[in-house]
Amino acid sequence: MLHALADAVFPSSCPGCGGRNPRDEPWCAACGATARPAPRGAVPVGVDDLVVAYAYEGVVRELVARVKYHNRRSVLPWLGAAVAGMLDVRDLDVVTWVPTTSVRRRQRGFDHGELLARAVGRELGRPVRRLLRRRDAEPQTGASRVARSRGPVLVGTGGVAGLDVVVVDDVVTTGATLAAAARVLHERAARSVVAAVAARTP
Ligand SMILES: [Zn+2]
Repeated sequence: MLHALADAVFPSSCPGCGGRNPRDEPWCAACGATARPAPRGAVPVGVDDLVVAYAYEGVVRELVARVKYHNRRSVLPWLGAAVAGMLDVRDLDVVTWVPTTSVRRRQRGFDHGELLARAVGRELGRPVRRLLRRRDAEPQTGASRVARSRGPVLVGTGGVAGLDVVVVDDVVTTGATLAAAARVLHERAARSVVAAVAARTP
């Protein structure tokens, strides 16, 4: 409980420069001004639309790392709002995420993708459901280039027939993971699959 209370405000240090943050921002004004919109890029195969909040560089990279590696959950509502702000809620039925590997989940004790999806769902007022499971054992960063380009082996869990689904992820690089997610969800008769991501690698 004490931990939850302490986590309810943004960390006092800016992820970019270590300086002080304003109360309602996860970074200082100067570093926040350096955060760039995501570069345009191809929509992964099978994904009906892709929205990305930021370019994955500089202070954004540090911010995402704080969530991913240091479990700084105070950033999540803010990041969730940034992602949700790019979506049209009228076209969405359910929010899900690309699960991290079970190894990573055990190491970290949480799934950052799930946490971000829950923040997005809260912001949109839409249910958040686990619709995908992962079969690979190896984290993607440790996989070969060829294996990475194929994406993880995902299987569907839960019904999505006729639903407009949002798949949330923190970072998109090749898009192979989102393509794998879209393939599974479309196989299970989802009406549409929109990917909503916090940051895209330049
Ligand atoms: Zn700063």
